[in-house]
Amino acid sequence: MEKVIIIGSGPAGFTAALYAARAGLAPVVFEGFMSGGMPGGQLMTTTEVENFPGFPGGGISGPDLMAKFRAQAQEFGATCHQEDVDSVDFSPPAFKVKADSHELEAHVLIVATGATARRMHVPSEEKLWSRGMSACAVCDGALPVFRDQPLVVIGGGDSAVEESTFLTKFASKVYLVHRRDELRASKIMQQRAQENSKLEIVWNSVLVDAEGDSMVSGATIRNVVTDEISSIACAGIFYAIGHDPNTGFLDGALATDEQGYIVVKPGRTHTSVDGVFACGDVVDKLYRQAITAAGTGCAAALDAERWLTEKGIE
Ligand code: NAP
Repeated sequence: MEKVIIIGSGPAGFTAALYAARAGLAPVVFEGFMSGGMPGGQLMTTTEVENFPGFPGGGISGPDLMAKFRAQAQEFGATCHQEDVDSVDFSPPAFKVKADSHELEAHVLIVATGATARRMHVPSEEKLWSRGMSACAVCDGALPVFRDQPLVVIGGGDSAVEESTFLTKFASKVYLVHRRDELRASKIMQQRAQENSKLEIVWNSVLVDAEGDSMVSGATIRNVVTDEISSIACAGIFYAIGHDPNTGFLDGALATDEQGYIVVKPGRTHTSVDGVFACGDVVDKLYRQAITAAGTGCAAALDAERWLTEKGIE
């Protein structure tokens, strides 16, 4: 029987693992494999992280930061399994976690499974997915098929601007298609977009479908003001339209809000099930930052440690 199982391997999961490991709880981390996109969470697809404290002089790449998180947790004794958790049996006396090749039981569970990029499900999406369509410009944008080609990004938030800007390094031109006439992205990101001569914002427009037989060759878009349909020739269409929390494997056992985010006790990490704690983006739809996720990961480990002490589990 394990003391603590942590599900998730982003900043929240690995910070929880670090704290739990240093508290002598020998945590086991299920890092995920495919279900959340890739192990390591969303930072694995972030180029430069300039707003995580401690890295002056240009920041650090997302994958490098996550490699450090993981190594530090392992240094103190966290055990990591790179596999997806399929289901959890919450019936007492222990939580039974069923993953691809391990089935383990624990007194305490920390859920830190993050959130996944949204898709629009336009008619040709299934056919053209990974054939020019992607929800991760940073993972796929540098592929040869996209080099020196026009590309389309859908969305108007920080991710859309960040990913569009990243794609301008490889593409001949990037069209940022946004459904409104102003960006949701922060002012500094908007400024970057406006200053980038390879980036053109297509306002008030939505994606109707992707064009192409075996590979993307264009994007059909509709102007929501004029209803006019037009086509942008492009080799790639990248979604950057937000995320949904990764809670499917819980099968409704923990209370969530109407958008599926796990509900925790205000200011704490306790979920609706005694002994289960949640942290990071699977809880947080407001801040969604690596540093806030790491902070709540720390809180979850401290809450878990106190819970174990209160129950007399050494
Ligand atoms: P977001 O802020 O929720 O933005 C999603 C964008 O997609 C919005 O512009 C939204 O349009 C659009 N959208 C949503 N559904 C759509 C649909 N079905 N069709 C067309 N457009 C759709 O998500 P995000 O950009 O991923 O950012 C999430 C959080 O992470 C934010 O707090 C952000 O600040 C943060 N973030 C920070 C950085 C950074 O600081 N470097 C980088 C990335 C993300 P509307 O605007 O019309 O709603």
